[in-house]
Amino acid sequence: MDIPFLNLTQQQLLEKHLYPRITEEKKTYIVTANPEIVMKAKENEKYKGMVKQADFIIPDGTGIVMASKLIKQPIQERVAGFDLMTHLIGYAEDQQLSCFFLGASEEVSKKMVERLKTLHPYLHIAGRHHGFFELEDRTVIEEVLDSRPDLIFVALGSPRQEEWITKYFNEFDKGLFMGVGGSFDVIAG
Ligand code: UDP
Repeated sequence: MDIPFLNLTQQQLLEKHLYPRITEEKKTYIVTANPEIVMKAKENEKYKGMVKQADFIIPDGTGIVMASKLIKQPIQERVAGFDLMTHLIGYAEDQQLSCFFLGASEEVSKKMVERLKTLHPYLHIAGRHHGFFELEDRTVIEEVLDSRPDLIFVALGSPRQEEWITKYFNEFDKGLFMGVGGSFDVIAG
């Protein structure tokens, strides 16, 4: 389907690529591609282009791993976006790196940050903003830029989260950007 999926375990991805890139302040864009995203990319060339700009497209779904085996290009393991995000937040807390959380409703966004403060008392939260704004609205991007985050988790659903990341990626001089779908709702409980 013309989507170059990552073929590494989560541990390999983190240790060989993501941790070093974060330390070196090398900008990184991650797409967590579940079957829904793959189908959207198939139907929409423009969206596919946004997905393919990612440094890492991770196979977020057993369906994708099964399909890879059928076409005899087996992917080692599913890398769930939620798990990866959780590991990255833990790493950020250990390394004193800052995170911005963009997306979800105002209520979920607030609750999620409160919950994160309990789970990760030393985590540096650069900021948060709900996800219901016009993509062209500069207020939000200025707020994110001003906070100079190391990691930016974007929960606007697809395709909005990939649109936001690809639209503004070049304005940042550092940061790991990851689209995380409904993950904030899960953390908020
Ligand atoms: N969301 C948002 N802004 C929008 C649309 C969605 O912040 O304009 C949030 C929504 O509240 C939820 C997350 O994006 O927290 C994921 O939404 P959805 O489940 O629709 O996306 P999916 O995970 O299926 O891509």
